[in-house]
Amino acid sequence: MNIIAWYNSSLSRRISSIFAVLLTILLMVIVFSIYKLRIIDSEMKEVAYIDVPLNQIMGRIEMLQLEQHILLEQFKLKETTDQHKRTPSQEYAYQKRQIKDSLDKAVELIMLNLEQNHIRFERGQHRQLLQEIERYHEHSNQFEQVLGDVLDGQETPLDKKVKLEDLANQLENSAQAILKELNKLTDDTSRYTEKHEQEFYWINIALGLCAIMLGIALTAYIVRFFMLRIARIKQDIQNLDESIKHGETAEYDGLINDDSRALDEFSQLEVELKQMMVRLAQEITNREQVEQQLLILATRDKLTGVYNRHKWDEQLKLQIDLASQGSPLSLILLDIDYFKKINDQYGHAVGDKVLKHLCGLLSNLLRSSDQLFRIGGEEFAILVPLQNGQAALQLAETLRAAVEKSITDVLPAYTVSIGVTQFQTGDTVKSLFNRADQALYCAKAQGRNQVVM
Ligand code: GH3
Ligand code: MG
Ligand code: MG
Repeated sequence: MNIIAWYNSSLSRRISSIFAVLLTILLMVIVFSIYKLRIIDSEMKEVAYIDVPLNQIMGRIEMLQLEQHILLEQFKLKETTDQHKRTPSQEYAYQKRQIKDSLDKAVELIMLNLEQNHIRFERGQHRQLLQEIERYHEHSNQFEQVLGDVLDGQETPLDKKVKLEDLANQLENSAQAILKELNKLTDDTSRYTEKHEQEFYWINIALGLCAIMLGIALTAYIVRFFMLRIARIKQDIQNLDESIKHGETAEYDGLINDDSRALDEFSQLEVELKQMMVRLAQEITNREQVEQQLLILATRDKLTGVYNRHKWDEQLKLQIDLASQGSPLSLILLDIDYFKKINDQYGHAVGDKVLKHLCGLLSNLLRSSDQLFRIGGEEFAILVPLQNGQAALQLAETLRAAVEKSITDVLPAYTVSIGVTQFQTGDTVKSLFNRADQALYCAKAQGRNQVVM
């Protein structure tokens, strides 16, 4: 639901929410990388405060070990008394103190490490180291005591040699164990630091990739969104264009109501455009209707709806031009008999109804190519193209008979007189009309309600 609401929200809201998500992700990665940096930093400090001094101590212990070893060898060869200012036991005690000092410093640093509870905290390993140092001190004390006994002459030379050799070995092993443990600790430090440095490196790569991918996705989304919407608006404009071309306007009525997602700026623009299209389409329809009405007013008789005098003049000329090129043409003139009497007897309104009734009757009997005109008060003309005089005469007779038979309850009975003529070579508007008019006059003169050709 929320996604749909988001999708329907405005464009600026959608883009800003994507930005917010992007920024949150970036912020999370940045916070994580800062956290990693702090770990690396504290490890570096640890290395600076503890591991570097431990390493120095380690180097020093190794040196002292070596010196002690040389001393022991010298003692075995009994050459030391003369060459050294101090006696071998004094010398050993001196070396022992030196080693003890160094080891005390190492113990101090290890205790500090245990107290401070560092990140790469290896309690077991530190304790192991402390135990090794403890053991070394024990061996060292024992060795010192035996050395004193030997020098005091309490031991036999053989016992002396075996015991001293044995203790010297133990002491050396103990020292080696300390060095080994110290080595392990410093190795661990570098391994941890390397691990975190690598993590930091990968986080930075992920951060960069994240930013690039989200940037590309956002750009692609915006571009696609704009393209789609522009295509839709373009389609709407094309539809309108087509509708206008084909004179169709109705299909635009539903468009605005159908579009319920008028929430973002583009949708609003689309709706406004459609509203404008509907208005435009309506304007076009109105204009067409007005044009149609104007045309009707210009060419049709207001009372009867048949062609008026203006159209008559135009069509008569046109049909005579066509007939002059060889196409047959006939003309029928028709006048209501004693129309004045109908007006006088029933009133002008009834006279109007008779005129309308006559036009309806005639229109029904004519072909679509025949044209009916009201050329005077109750005088009508019919242009009959492509028909010779005989066919027109038959048609006129049909019309006359139909009028005579068309007796209704609401209208008075009436008849018509008809004059018929056909186009003859050389005829003009005037000559053709006059001949038809003369025929009509004859029909009237011969007693009305008849056709004369
Ligand atoms: P006939 O043609 O048989 O010789 O006799 P008539 O009585 O029809 O004579 P005429 O053709 O001279 O009369 C035409 C009458 O038609 C005169 C006029 O009052 C009437 N008239 C003309 N236009 C209209 C109209 O629009 N409505 C009505 N009710 N009468 C009209
Ligand atoms: Mg008349
Ligand atoms: Mg008349």
